[in-house]
Amino acid sequence: MNDEHSLGFATRAIHQGYDPLEHEGALNPPVYLNSTFAFPDIAEGQRRFRGESPGYVYSRVGNPTATVLEARLASLEGGEAGLATASGIGAITSALWTLLKAGDTIVADQTLYGCTFGYLEHGLARLGIAVRFADLTQPAALSAALDAQTRVVFFETPANPNMRLVDIAAVSAIARRHGALTIVDNTYCTPCLQRPLELGADLVVHSATKYLGGHGDLLAGAVIGTRELIDQIRFFGVKEMTGACISALDAYLVLRGLKTLELRMERHCASAQTLAELLEAHPAVTQVWYPGLTSFSQAELARRQMSRAGGMIALELRGGYEAGVRFMDRLQLVTRAVSLGDCETLAQHPASMTHATYAPEERARHGISEGLVRLSVGLETCADLAADLTQALAGV
Ligand SMILES: *Cc1c(COP(=O)(O)O)cnc(C)c1O
Repeated sequence: MNDEHSLGFATRAIHQGYDPLEHEGALNPPVYLNSTFAFPDIAEGQRRFRGESPGYVYSRVGNPTATVLEARLASLEGGEAGLATASGIGAITSALWTLLKAGDTIVADQTLYGCTFGYLEHGLARLGIAVRFADLTQPAALSAALDAQTRVVFFETPANPNMRLVDIAAVSAIARRHGALTIVDNTYCTPCLQRPLELGADLVVHSATKYLGGHGDLLAGAVIGTRELIDQIRFFGVKEMTGACISALDAYLVLRGLKTLELRMERHCASAQTLAELLEAHPAVTQVWYPGLTSFSQAELARRQMSRAGGMIALELRGGYEAGVRFMDRLQLVTRAVSLGDCETLAQHPASMTHATYAPEERARHGISEGLVRLSVGLETCADLAADLTQALAGV
């Protein structure tokens, strides 16, 4: 597996970073259920503590099963190094706490995954870090938000839950000119569909809980970037600040999920395209946001930075909140649940679920309308999904 660059995505998703012949022929990477690791002698122990030897010390800092996952994710994202974490929020907090200190500014897109928004607004801000939200779908808005203290620019694309896209190359270029690092949450696309590092971003973060794991049976996250930045985040952010290290068993499960990532993404994308077109044509639906629709306002940007349109759809129902609740309650096959990227198709109505505690005006400020429904299109037979959505819409 040395000639990494000549191998295709699926091949690397299955083989990168692991050779069975170095492990008793075991086809799958062993799960190293170990908190600690023995040193052959004090001289080697010293080298490991100083970071002069690659050997292991303690699983909060590194674990051999996690190492395979980290090498594989780095290869898939086109980065030098990777770091696997306990969750997506563990990845984001470990990265930002490493890179920011009191007096610094972070500029983030105004549309973010709810807990990421909460961490910036309530976590970072409390530590004396200025947090500015801007509409990064307009790269000019970034120039206006940047100041001499801005160290980091952070965004998701497509953004949760309304599918707005941010131009990764344009925003990264502006941030770089100002000496700020760009961090992209690539959870929705995965490296199978979009590789922000190749477009100029400095770090990619993931909730591996979603498509990378792919089976709704774990929580995990990852950060990918240069060796220098990843070492800083590992040895300070995770080791000393958050402790958000991945467990060996979860690292193994993400590795198992990655083997079928490309296959799964193909089906997620194909079914989402079919269902987005079906929903757009339905009279109970006033709007569908899906990057693969010709009606999508950023379709050109989607083609430029995403190889396919993904498995996530947002739709607006005629009839607002009540219509949203009726639609959700009528679903029979599609599952009412948060999260995304699983084999099961999941539906979530932000106004009654994730954003239920917000006042309607607050929801509107966050771009969440009352009849907005988010679908994570799964891997079931597409005709069965179409039938369930159609019968649910008939009662709205
Ligand atoms: C789920 C999610 C997160 C948080 O990840 P966890 O693994 O739940 O901690 C962050 N960003 C996005 C876009 C997500 O969907």
